[in-house]
Amino acid sequence: MAVPTSFEVVHICGHTVSHDLSNRSADQRAGYARWLTERKCTDCWRADHRADATSTAEWLAAKRAEEQAAASAWATQFDMPELEGPEKILGWGERCRHQLVTGAYEALVTEGTWDEADWAQLEEQIRLLIRTGWWVDQRGADGADLPELLDAATDADRPTENPFR
Ligand SMILES: [Zn+2]
Repeated sequence: MAVPTSFEVVHICGHTVSHDLSNRSADQRAGYARWLTERKCTDCWRADHRADATSTAEWLAAKRAEEQAAASAWATQFDMPELEGPEKILGWGERCRHQLVTGAYEALVTEGTWDEADWAQLEEQIRLLIRTGWWVDQRGADGADLPELLDAATDADRPTENPFR
């Protein structure tokens, strides 16, 4: 009697699926069929993974929308100008600016030695920087470094001055 090539496998999900194992050697088919019983059938496996991917994408989209709303509300409250740059990264730039500036306020004023007047001065510098790409580039930066980053950015826009003249 020849070793069968077709196996009826009852998967862990309860579905019975007939598997053609003719592409496996005769002595491996039974072991493979047994291993399959501990797995979900292909349909269930696919459905699970689709559900995972969908919920991750939905979660990310919801989180992004929430951050975007917070960034927009913040920009309005603190009279921050609209950013300029490629349309598709405008929202991203706005979220980066919000995150970095609130981080800077926390580091310099709330936990630091700056007073509101110092901060107001920095805020003026922040308002001048409307290049969305710049904010996106600083996304990993520490809030406490914002004054230095702003100085570097505004220096680059100014013609260099000779300090010895
Ligand atoms: Zn199934």
